[in-house]
Amino acid sequence: MKAPPETFATASRYDPNYPHRCGQELDQALQFTPAYHSWRPFDIGIESGVFSRLAAFSALTKEDLRTHGPQGFVPHGRSITEGLATGEIELATTSGTTGDRVENVWYQPWWNRSEAASWRLNSHTRRAGLGDHREAILTSPWCTGFPWETGFLTRKQRTSGRFLYLCERSDPSQWPEPLMNRMVDELNRFEPQVLEANPSFLSKLSRHIIHKKLQVRSPPLIILTYEFPSLLHLRNIRRAFDSPVASSYGATETGYVFMECEAGRMHQVTESCHVDFLPFSHDHGGPKMGRILVTTFDNPWRSLVRFDTGDIVCLDGETPCLCGRHEGLTLTSVEGRLVNLTLTPENRLVTQGEVDRALSKVPGIADYQVIQTGKSDFTVRFVAELHECPPPAGAVRAAIQGVYGSEATITPEPVISIAPDPPGKYRLVKSLIPIDPALFLDSQFAPIRLMP
Ligand SMILES: [Zn+2]
Repeated sequence: MKAPPETFATASRYDPNYPHRCGQELDQALQFTPAYHSWRPFDIGIESGVFSRLAAFSALTKEDLRTHGPQGFVPHGRSITEGLATGEIELATTSGTTGDRVENVWYQPWWNRSEAASWRLNSHTRRAGLGDHREAILTSPWCTGFPWETGFLTRKQRTSGRFLYLCERSDPSQWPEPLMNRMVDELNRFEPQVLEANPSFLSKLSRHIIHKKLQVRSPPLIILTYEFPSLLHLRNIRRAFDSPVASSYGATETGYVFMECEAGRMHQVTESCHVDFLPFSHDHGGPKMGRILVTTFDNPWRSLVRFDTGDIVCLDGETPCLCGRHEGLTLTSVEGRLVNLTLTPENRLVTQGEVDRALSKVPGIADYQVIQTGKSDFTVRFVAELHECPPPAGAVRAAIQGVYGSEATITPEPVISIAPDPPGKYRLVKSLIPIDPALFLDSQFAPIRLMP
């Protein structure tokens, strides 16, 4: 008999009931959820243990979600039409490029439970008594909020219940000063308990606060989400605010998956999901660096098994974490997304995190974008800190040469600002040449595509 597939989950510690919950979700998908019908022949059986069973299946992709549609992933024959009619659920389309959009069933009680579970993984969020708090949100209004690109909306028009959306415009590089002054004024008057922010957006506001020497009330808590937090952005935020800052990681499809603890590590939200880890091969950062697949728990409106979020993470080898938490996977970092991968001229994978760590050591940079334009060619666009000497192009070139090696041709290009891609997502690192990340996985763990 063929040996069960390798899985990292067997090396992690979990609550005694956790494997049972994973098994329940898998069985519900295989037996009662239409989209997984074709997975059944590949079930290696309960005697193999649930983690090996899971590892034997394909990754579920966004393409699969589109192919089967929201109804295909609803277990037990519940009707989306009826759920919409009663108001129990809504449909939410994820932002992103056109080819990347997915229509999701949005079931608020499940989302709230997942969020509350994430708060228990950080001492600041755990103690804050969150759930009914005032919250200011600073992200692309196309992700959440009220978009209005040509004028300004009133505070009332940007308020929904206990949430105040600070910005109606999706391109921070075009924010006028009065708009940023208004954001500061609203933070001071609204006195949110939590500021939830896209780090690149909050970095832009932070730079404005620093350079204009504005007085801003630091909220008791800043939670960064929506995108990879660059070290440069974190540095700007910490210069403007003295709040505790925690990074939260999740997705519309998966709910909350990892939460940064007070010791700076990211812990899996084991109450609401299981995470399979697929390491890259040794030459490409493995076995610590790899991709993740998420299986969600207890969503009556969507059965999601081994969903490929498109993110890359780095496992933490130190267990337990200094905070004492030890359940599930612990990460040193989220390293960026697959679309942010680049390659050295010798074909070694480079994550956004690796580029970010190198450029954050160059003094005087406020923002950057690295674009791989050819096999050995890289353009580094960079924005100098206001009122400071711009960093010499040579220092920028040297930092990036250190990442991509002596064969790489680096072209530094100072720019005034960097705009996000629509609908307000920054791509700090990207390649214009196609990269198939599946080629770089450790073949012992690589998922085989099974869904038709
Ligand atoms: Zn910790």
